[in-house]
Amino acid sequence: MLNNPVLILNQNYQPLNVCNARRALVLLNLGKAELMQDSVGQINTVSKTFDIPSIIRLYRMVKIPLNVRRLSRIGVFVRDKHKCQYCGVHSKTLTLDHVIPRSKGGQHEWDNLVSACNSCNNKKAGRNPVEAGMKLIKPPSPPRPNPFYLVERRTILSDWKPFIPWLVPQTIE
Ligand SMILES: [Zn+2]
Repeated sequence: MLNNPVLILNQNYQPLNVCNARRALVLLNLGKAELMQDSVGQINTVSKTFDIPSIIRLYRMVKIPLNVRRLSRIGVFVRDKHKCQYCGVHSKTLTLDHVIPRSKGGQHEWDNLVSACNSCNNKKAGRNPVEAGMKLIKPPSPPRPNPFYLVERRTILSDWKPFIPWLVPQTIE
């Protein structure tokens, strides 16, 4: 039971990380966190009985290091929602286009890469958009960092769901 997963919320109730119950009990004991929710069991030591926590919240706000998304071909397609950034067509066979061609000093970076369909890529060839008379739907930029990356890939227990923003249904007004 001491290895049960425990959701750690940041001071502002945002999910921060997952730890095991042992670590969570230490944080509670040190007065660094408050118990938000018990899980099923209890654990007995010589002197005390502890509820096994399921969710704890830190008393102090922890700054999350920014997780800048690593550049990848797929990453660019996902950012661009699989849409050619010149003509707007959805395609499964997109190519990666350097907005400023590499031959002209363009960098292989998020802000110089877009998804382009074959025909736009051929039309643009080794030119920049102005020379080719083509317009970008939107200037490329790095995707937003994900503040939940420590929790996102974890199994989400049902207890935790109210605190997981991407699972909370949006209220429609
Ligand atoms: Zn196109």
